[in-house]
Formats: sequence, C-alpha cells, structure tokens
Amino acid sequence: MVEDFKWANQLARPVIAGFKAYSARGASTKALHMDANESPWAPPPAGPREEDYNRYPAQQPPVLMARLSGLYGVPAENILLGRGADEAIDVLLRTFCEAGEDNVLICPPSFGYFDIAAQVQGAGIVKVPLDKNYDIDQAAVKKALETNAIKIAMLCSPNNPTGNSVPSDFIESLCAEHPNTLIMVDEAYSEFAARGNLSDLLDKNRNLVLMRTLSKAYGLAGVRAGVALANPQIINLMLKVLPPYPVPRPVEQAVMKALAPSAMAVHDSRMAIWMSERARLMEALPDCNMIAKVYPSDANFILLKAKDDDALLASLTRFNIKIRDFRSKIPGHFRISVGMPEENDLLLSALGITPEAVINERVAEAFRTTKETDISVRVNLDDPGTVAIETGLGFFDHMLEQIAKHGGMGLTLKCAGDLHIDSHHSVEDTALAFGTALKQALGNKAGIGRYGFVMPMDETQARVAIDLSGRPAFVFNGNFPTENVGAFAAEMCPHFFQSLSQSLGASIQIDVKGDNTHHMIEACFKGVGRALRPAISRGPTTDIPSTKGVI
Ligand SMILES: *Cc1c(COP(=O)(O)O)cnc(C)c1O
Repeated sequence: MVEDFKWANQLARPVIAGFKAYSARGASTKALHMDANESPWAPPPAGPREEDYNRYPAQQPPVLMARLSGLYGVPAENILLGRGADEAIDVLLRTFCEAGEDNVLICPPSFGYFDIAAQVQGAGIVKVPLDKNYDIDQAAVKKALETNAIKIAMLCSPNNPTGNSVPSDFIESLCAEHPNTLIMVDEAYSEFAARGNLSDLLDKNRNLVLMRTLSKAYGLAGVRAGVALANPQIINLMLKVLPPYPVPRPVEQAVMKALAPSAMAVHDSRMAIWMSERARLMEALPDCNMIAKVYPSDANFILLKAKDDDALLASLTRFNIKIRDFRSKIPGHFRISVGMPEENDLLLSALGITPEAVINERVAEAFRTTKETDISVRVNLDDPGTVAIETGLGFFDHMLEQIAKHGGMGLTLKCAGDLHIDSHHSVEDTALAFGTALKQALGNKAGIGRYGFVMPMDETQARVAIDLSGRPAFVFNGNFPTENVGAFAAEMCPHFFQSLSQSLGASIQIDVKGDNTHHMIEACFKGVGRALRPAISRGPTTDIPSTKGVI
C-alpha cells in the first residue's frame, strides 16, 4: 500500500498538500506557559468555568473529540470539528478545489450554502437538478461525474429542503466508480431519518465525506459545532486549512453539557415526540385548503406546495408564524419546521385545521448537576406512554416507576450519581429534580388540589395525603423493620418525599404501617403516585390551545 500512502494529497490543492500545518500550540499543560503570548490572568470575574479562558484551547479539544467519537461511532482521527457543519463544508472546498480549475456537482434544489461556499472558493459548479419527484437523477449524476472534472459531489441526505434521502446503494456505487471524486453527503438531518446515517460506509470508501451537526437534533444551533467524518488522510488535509483554535472553550463546555450521559435520555424522548409530531403534521396538513401538496420527510421539516400562497402567508402572518419561503427556488413551495406539540397545534389552527385532539401537553424538564450527581428528568402529565428510569439503583428505579404508573404520567429520568459512596445523594437529588419538573409541568394548576389516598399492600397500609399548595411541608409516620432493601437505605424513603415536597412545593403526609420494609416503601411510592393522579389529570373540558400572544 506504499503508493497509497498519500493518495489524498493528490486530490488536494497542491498548495495545501505542500505546506506544513500552522503550529497552533497544543492543549495547555501544567507547564509554565510562556509560549503563546497569552495573558497570565484569567478574565475577571474568574469563576471555575473561566479559569483557563486566558489560554488558547486545543485545536481539536481531546475530551470533546472523544465524546464526539462516541456519539458518531467513529474514531476521533476520522473527525474534523468546526464551527458548524457549515465551516466543515467550507474547509472541504478550500482544501480540495483549486479556484478556476476544479468543479463541484450540486443537485438543486438543495442546501443553499453549497453553492455559496463553492463560489467563494472559485470552484466551478455543475448542476444536475433533482427529477420532478425531487429524487436524485442517478443517470444524470453519473454522466456528469464521467464528463466533467468534478472534485466534490455535494449531496445532501435527507435533502434540505425536499426532505427525502439519497439511496445509500447509489452513494456506495458513486464512491466505488469515482475514486478520484470526493463524495460528500451532508447528513445534517440523519438523526431524523429511518435509515439512520452512513458512517458504516466510511471504512470501505475512502473518498466518502459525511457532514454531521449538533445544530438540529441536539438543539445546539446557537453554539456552532459540527463535524466532517472522513478518512484520516482527508481529515489531516482539512486540519491544515481549518483556522487556528476554532473551538472556543465555552463551546466545548456547552457541548459536553448537552451531551452528558444523563442528557441523552432527554434527547431520545424529544426525538420520539419530534417523530410523532412530524407524522401528525403530515397527516393533518393535506386537509388545509390552501395547500396543494405535502411531501414526505425524513427530516425535522416538511416541504409543501401552496394552492394559494397569498392566503397561506396571510393566515400564518395573522398568527405571527414564520415559515421558510422557497418560492424563488421552487415556485409555490414553502418549508415548515416541526415544532413542539403546542406550537404545531397553533400552526394547524392558523391553517384552519382544528387539531384532532388538543395536545397542549403539560411537559417539563429539569436538570440538576452537582459534584455528586448529574440528573435529567422529563415529565409528561398527559401522556403516560414513556417511562424510562435509570438511577443505577434497581429498587429505586422500581419505586419511581410506581409513582409514574400510579400517577398516570410519563417519566424519563436518568441519574448518574456517586453510588460508590452510597445512595444518599442520588435519591435526594433525584427527588429535588423530579419535584422541580413536576411543579413546572403543573404550571398554574398547582395549588388547586387536596387529595388523599389509602394504599393497602399485603400486610402493609400506607395513607397518603397531598396538597399542592405551593408550600413545602412533610409529615412522616412509620418505622421500618429493617435498615435496607438491597442497596437502598430505608431512611431514604422519607428523605425522598421530604425533598420532593420541598422542590414541588407540596404538603405531603404519609402514614405507613407494616412488617415488611420492601412492601412499606413500595406502598409509599404507589400511594404518592395515586394521590398525584387526580391532581394532575385534567377534566373533560378541553382547553383551547394557547394563542401565545396572538389576538
Ligand atoms: C442546517 C444545515 C447545516 C448547518 O449546520 P451547522 O452545523 O449549523 O453549520 C448544514 N447542512 C444542512 C443541509 C443544513 O440544513
């Protein structure tokens, strides 16, 4: 494979292949750094976060790269991290396309920045439009690659704005048949696509370059982080072109926080909502008499063709809803991003389609990170469908499931805590975070109910009374016959409810009698769930969806 040692160099612009990368200083170390003309002082006021803001970050911060390697399932040497996939696209063009000589292939309508980045670099643009169904014209693309000196085929899958995917066997055949063309696939929306992403093809196809972003599925558009995934030879050439220190320390901190292990459960449950909302909109939108056509989508947006564009825009303007106008590129077409359930309800109302069911779900999330624990909670008081709990304590998971089940609520909860010490922090902090989320989800409905419940269980009886008064108070009467149930300390049961009453702002009173600690604790959790159920359930009157500041 000696002749292959520098295959990518032959594809790159000679000037890039020829120079040595600017030597940005590596990550700061414990050494006394007098090498980079930095200030020796952290900027005021220097808290723990800012303490190394005076030092340049690593070119590709190793901790973040390791996290992204885990997220995308490829080794760090296959990843270039930039300020968004946008920068990765720009850098790819600047690395491989000689101005006035090399061409790129674009299949419009597609992501508008491809065109702009190519023009800025001075690359020629060969356009092979999508066919009338907005599918890629496979024969025309192959022909264009054979007859034009094309350095990069710039594909987008799922394609923005049409929402459909490029078949993966077609991408594989392009890679195999055109070894001297880089086959770029912008996968900014692959998290939303049923077929997933193409990372598995990277090993076999050294000319394949994938773009991924944290801006869409992970909600980090304002942070600016996106990657190119490719063969290490390509990545190394691109690293020469990437400007010095492109990943600010606050960006690294924000990304690490949003991708913390506990946060992943929240991303998963949001994705499930996103998917069901996309399906709901796909089904509802064709009922609008201002819409002529709704296109299927593998992404978090839907392309549609208006029957009456003026009426459509006027209706949306009345509700102060903005959608993306594509009429200058595709006559009569618009793109709508899928929102939260209540936002989509508002959209459907604006379009004159009464939402089938008033969704307006009471959902809230709470995050709590301390030295001892890292917790994320998501509660949905109106959809008990999702219950996913992971605290590392089997018995505690089971107890929390009881609250969710008997309370009739969805609960996604992940806690990574210092269980090697004991369960105290995990149980207490989980209660605090859970109470915070519940309180927020109840919104202004809090403080209306006073409910009691008696929960018999074998020899055990738990009597639970809850008042969602906004004021924390806790009374507990009961003696457990043993100190522990598995790794769970019995004393943490009252402590859990005390912490819950605090963050939820509720009075919780529990009397429990019995001979078996396991039963007694379980009866407390079930009883609290049962007592919460009537407090959180809504009556038969369906509220009209909020019009959010609209007349
Ligand atoms: C949004 C979008 C991007 C931009 O990603 P960033 O990481 O935010 O720069 C790239 N490609 C496509 C197709 C997009 O729609």
